[in-house]
Amino acid sequence: MKKKYNTVVIGAGIAGCCSAYFLKEKGIDVLVVDRSGVSATGGSSAAGAFISPKIGKGSPLQTLTNEAFNFAVEFYSDRFHRYFTQTGVIRLLKDKVDAKKFMAYEKFNSAKRRVLNRDELREYGIKDEDIAFLFEEAGVCDAPHLCRAIIRYIDYLQYDVRELKYIDGYWHIGSIEAQNIVLATGYQNNLFDMRYMGVKGLWGSRGDYISSLDLKVSMHKKISISSNIDGIIKIGATHIKSKEPCISCDGKPLKSLEKIASTMVDSSDFRLKETFCGMRSSSKDFFPLVGGVIDTKYMLETYPKILKGAKPPIKKIKNLYICNGLGGRGFVFAPLMGKILADFIIDKREIDSRVNPDRLFLKWCRKLV
Ligand SMILES: Cc1cc2nc3c(=O)[nH]c(=O)nc-3n(C[C@H](O)[C@H](O)[C@H](O)COP(=O)(O)OP(=O)(O)OC[C@H]3O[C@@H](n4cnc5c(N)ncnc54)[C@H](O)[C@@H]3O)c2cc1C
Repeated sequence: MKKKYNTVVIGAGIAGCCSAYFLKEKGIDVLVVDRSGVSATGGSSAAGAFISPKIGKGSPLQTLTNEAFNFAVEFYSDRFHRYFTQTGVIRLLKDKVDAKKFMAYEKFNSAKRRVLNRDELREYGIKDEDIAFLFEEAGVCDAPHLCRAIIRYIDYLQYDVRELKYIDGYWHIGSIEAQNIVLATGYQNNLFDMRYMGVKGLWGSRGDYISSLDLKVSMHKKISISSNIDGIIKIGATHIKSKEPCISCDGKPLKSLEKIASTMVDSSDFRLKETFCGMRSSSKDFFPLVGGVIDTKYMLETYPKILKGAKPPIKKIKNLYICNGLGGRGFVFAPLMGKILADFIIDKREIDSRVNPDRLFLKWCRKLV
């Protein structure tokens, strides 16, 4: 390991790994650091890592999600096919409200899909459902192995970053120096004042079950269930808004998930092998956060009228970047977001305004009064 890098990425979840990958692809010297290992404890370790499109009525978030979905499918299939199984994902109706809107969604679906009827759903082992979309290109990742493979040729250090100092044009992280820092720290964001991004955590859990059920496709309703891959079926969902997750679930994080799963498929032989819990992060408006970081302290002190609606020029913290807020679709968003960030840092390409965190700053300032 060296002492000087062009860029240090903090966080080795899927966001940090993909950011590092696309930076490295541009010939940049990158180091990834994480306090607990690659995809070891964050949202990425708990994720079922389903890669599926978003259905809906063509909202801007749906459009962006599906751009990211297409990019992710190609990225994982071409470069990391060992860790991405194209199982197909059946999107079932969530409830009666969803049922009413379901066919209206049809014309806004950009991903390749097929409508399945009751009989076809039975053949796939799905109980009590009349209609659903099957997205054949969708699938499931093996999250920890995928993350490790993405940064296989990139330097990695296990290190808990507690402080970052910018001295003489370099960021200092312990004894390491770097020109640029990328924060890919998930819901933990205490290194800088980034309140304006409104990063919030949502707790979730996943169980891996040993089963002989012949499930050939993955499916999603309120929860996700994977196809049977090598005798294992994964069930997962993020569902609890809580800072202290284990208190809410009372030591039984999979109880409600198992109940829902039993209404979807025949889960009678499911035997729990392993439980995973984790927090995933979302932004205030549920769009990802990719780009530079505003110097909040400077802005508030220098332009107090910003609180009343003034729009002064924005000052960023030098050479500090973020890739975060990937929400419930981190594995879908991360490849495209990592590429957008690398294009921005290295090629000075403009950040897509939909994901640029600047969008949230002035509004946040006005709410401070
Ligand atoms: C139960 C569950 C199921 C999910 N299912 C899916 C799914 O099916 N499909 C999908 O696409 N997404 C899913 N998600 C969402 C997805 O997991 C997240 O969006 C994604 O993992 C976020 O990745 P990340 O890299 O931003 O954050 P994380 O994976 O949380 O990584 C952040 C990393 O930063 C490190 N870190 C933080 N602070 C520091 C510091 N100061 N110093 C050093 N290291 C630090 C942490 O240790 C951590 O490893 C699910 C999430 C959960 C919880």
